[in-house]
Amino acid sequence: MASNVILARMGEVTLKGLNRGKFENQLKVNLRYRLRNFGKLSITQSQSRIWIEAKSEDNPAFAGEEAAQEILTAVTQVFGIVSASLALKFEGDFDVIVKEAIAYVDKLLQEHPEYKTFKVESKRGNKQFPLSSPEICTEVGGNILDNFPQLSVDVHNPDFILNVEIRDYNYLYSGKVMGHRGLPVGTAGKGMLLLSGGIDSPVAGYMMASRGMQIDAVYFHSFPYTSEQAKQKVVDLAKIVSRFSGKMNLYVVNFTKIQLDMVKNSPEDMITITMRRVMLQIAEELAKKSGCKCLITGESLGQVASQTLEAINITNEVATLPVLRPLIGIDKQETCDISRRIGAFETSILPYEDCCTVFVAKHPKTHPSHKDIENAESKLDIKAMVEMGLNEGLEIIEI
Ligand code: ATP
Ligand code: MG
Repeated sequence: MASNVILARMGEVTLKGLNRGKFENQLKVNLRYRLRNFGKLSITQSQSRIWIEAKSEDNPAFAGEEAAQEILTAVTQVFGIVSASLALKFEGDFDVIVKEAIAYVDKLLQEHPEYKTFKVESKRGNKQFPLSSPEICTEVGGNILDNFPQLSVDVHNPDFILNVEIRDYNYLYSGKVMGHRGLPVGTAGKGMLLLSGGIDSPVAGYMMASRGMQIDAVYFHSFPYTSEQAKQKVVDLAKIVSRFSGKMNLYVVNFTKIQLDMVKNSPEDMITITMRRVMLQIAEELAKKSGCKCLITGESLGQVASQTLEAINITNEVATLPVLRPLIGIDKQETCDISRRIGAFETSILPYEDCCTVFVAKHPKTHPSHKDIENAESKLDIKAMVEMGLNEGLEIIEI
């Protein structure tokens, strides 16, 4: 009987010299975690490829093609995977292979009646098999031509490629879904993402996770100025990032009193900066407590008033951990493209207010000096604010 299996290909991981084993193991752990809701699976590696299949025949997640497609998508979202294909696995001699290949192409042509040209590619892991790889291609190709007169062979630019692989079992597949590449999460420490409800910060988290970084997140919430829906939106965005980055703690800081205090006691045009500085200090304390070795923001140079070099410098000064800004040189359009690709965009553009927009000045200082910030913070008890953020009403949500 034929069954569905997924063939996943590893990318950069395989270039890792002596450390390769560590990266590969982490990748398999991450695959297992990402696929935890799809029943009992066997995940095995051979060279630069990983094979994923059901442990027993009655696993419904692998039974139908539609269900298997869902697993395929999940596999491509695990960093370290460059591409994946859904393959048919079966036993039998060459006659069986030809028969299955014809049935496979028949089904493919029903889905894609526009296909007119093809080629066969083959791999033979089982050297006992009586035909060589080129012979397999010629024989299978010839049989397909005989059965589908509308098709012709085009080795340079075919509409579809039929892959035939012969190893412990026989495998047939056509086409592949591209993965998100990168390195397995868990191979590059952990970072604390400042996650707002906007477009940029979820993308920033995704980008650092793609380099192997595990992510925790912190959101500054100013209830009731920012609504319950605004918070839910951030939770939803955290879930989207965690599809790629794995388990995550989301810290929700009660920011209301702190912000009201700032509005009352600090010049209006400096609020954005003072707020940013306090956010960064609270985030840093949370980062240290939870084992994060850096902070991550969605800032992009010049995008808004608080993202000029002067403003970034003045904000940065309060942090001792490095602040990573993966979007700093990235165009907004490109950020939106990534946001769409990871499925965050629709959530990010929901029209709920953010604490920065609620209290923002009409004309914030774009080139703040040290004197400006000294003046702005002179009437504020920053230390107490940071303490308050860490202790009063801090909520931790496991994502
Ligand atoms: P985003 O699209 O991520 O909201 P933005 O373009 O709106 O970013 P800013 O509002 O200046 O830019 O925020 C810059 C960065 O500061 C954000 O990317 C995020 O990392 C952090 N940040 C802003 N507001 C919050 C918040 N309420 N909670 C947590 N982090 C925040
Ligand atoms: Mg924002």
